[in-house]
Amino acid sequence: MAQLNRSKHVWARASAKQEKIAKSLTCHHLVPKSRGGSAGARNILRLAWDKHQSWHKLFKNKTIMEVLELLLQEARFEKKPFTSKRFQLVRWDKLQSWHCLFKERSSTEALELLVKMVWLKGYHSLSCTYVQELDKLKSEKLECTG
Ligand SMILES: [Zn+2]
Repeated sequence: MAQLNRSKHVWARASAKQEKIAKSLTCHHLVPKSRGGSAGARNILRLAWDKHQSWHKLFKNKTIMEVLELLLQEARFEKKPFTSKRFQLVRWDKLQSWHCLFKERSSTEALELLVKMVWLKGYHSLSCTYVQELDKLKSEKLECTG
């Protein structure tokens, strides 16, 4: 019994430790260092460790500009009616990573989220470009249903 309690205790401690690691904040470079990104605050996104892992599983070593472009492509794809393949990027093996980062959001909603994030980071013209693209997408959607 003591043995059982002990292993329970060890297990609880190990999972608490794992949880702590998963939630510990890491620095993600919006433009990767390997691709000329700086270490300045503007280029750093603080992400929980598990989200950071998920980011790179989904987006590899892409710059934030490339990620936004990819999501825009996906959002356009998503918009088209009668496409059974919801999302090229989210093959089932990547769904977990997607969910960790964006929960139940669609690619359009994920794009909106990142557009807000880059605005807050001070990339205003980049943000504006994608706000316009999102507006275009939404008005096209209205035309489709109306
Ligand atoms: Zn990173």
